[in-house]
Amino acid sequence: MNPDSWTEMLAAVQAFHDKHDFKNTGGEELKYRIALMAEELGEISACVTKGKPVEALGEECADLFILLMGTAIAANFDLNRHFWDKMEKIMQRESRMVDGHIRVSEFRD
Ligand SMILES: [Mg+2]
Repeated sequence: MNPDSWTEMLAAVQAFHDKHDFKNTGGEELKYRIALMAEELGEISACVTKGKPVEALGEECADLFILLMGTAIAANFDLNRHFWDKMEKIMQRESRMVDGHIRVSEFRD
């Protein structure tokens, strides 16, 4: 197993879906998946706002990442390609300070 292989990571998430038959049990329904992802984002937030150890933050981020990969499986899009397409796009964007924080966006003014 190569832990850096996107293909193997995606296969592991697919195996998780298959193990619990997500396809036929509502586990790949997109509205349900959005609720799950929001729940995980809340858990990530709690790690930060409650000052939990970084190990807990990493675990919650992994939960969200696995859900994102599973959403790519459920909706049948190539998340790896979208990742690289988007990276190319955002690397071209301008940044500016907004209320004390750097913001990278398509500023329209
Ligand atoms: Mg979690």
